[in-house]
Amino acid sequence: MKISVAHLYPDYLNIYADRGNIAVLTRRAAARRHELSIEAVGLGDELGPGAHDLLYVGGGQDREQTLIAPDLAEKGETVRTMVEEGCALLAVCGGYQLLGRGYWGRDGTFMPGAELFPHETVAGTTRMIGDVLLECELEPGVRQMLAGFENHAGRTRLDPGAEPLGRVVYGFGNDGESGHEGCRLGRALGTYLHGPLLPRNPWLADWILAQALAHAAGGSPTPLEPLDDEVEAVAHRVAAERARTRGGRKR
Ligand code: GLN
Repeated sequence: MKISVAHLYPDYLNIYADRGNIAVLTRRAAARRHELSIEAVGLGDELGPGAHDLLYVGGGQDREQTLIAPDLAEKGETVRTMVEEGCALLAVCGGYQLLGRGYWGRDGTFMPGAELFPHETVAGTTRMIGDVLLECELEPGVRQMLAGFENHAGRTRLDPGAEPLGRVVYGFGNDGESGHEGCRLGRALGTYLHGPLLPRNPWLADWILAQALAHAAGGSPTPLEPLDDEVEAVAHRVAAERARTRGGRKR
């Protein structure tokens, strides 16, 4: 099966090498004999509704976010339609912030967002930095731990009733107070967890792949054939342990 990925603004939003997540998806898809075809979508480029199975947006600092925000806001309606029609999405940090209604930057300027996720972000005066451990339940009754790293000044407030990606076990999460991290809307996930998120959380990589495959093939997601994730399991353990001992906040 061919899985078509639109990678939004790779030249601007790639802090902490967020594009490494795409490398993981490519490899894990290939191990199941699927092919990931990646299209870079930049400023002013057309985003064809229906043309993609997965949208990916990385993180970036306020400066880069200012540059792409108006363009992303313009693409908002297309992004919302795509997700409604079952396209999968992963957005990290700066990209996650701008997939909500918008981001009030440090200087008080408002960057408009794509209005996909029901949230809004306001820059704080301190940064929330450190390792994070979350408990997620993307499928009813299936609890999984997600280990990652966060570094953000923005505080994201979910609207009442919005579904977070996970519950913070260690770390700050969306705003350091709510105990929530990220946001989930159907097959769309947004998170503050940066950089090598998927290499150390292979279950999440496979969840995303299964959603994208379901969009490509039609029908519901089906489980993927398991891979040997021994190295990934060690990476997860080390990251989870760091979050336990050094995470931003103990709960
Ligand atoms: N500029 C945003 C913040 O600090 C996002 C930063 C990032 O992507 N690391 O909140």
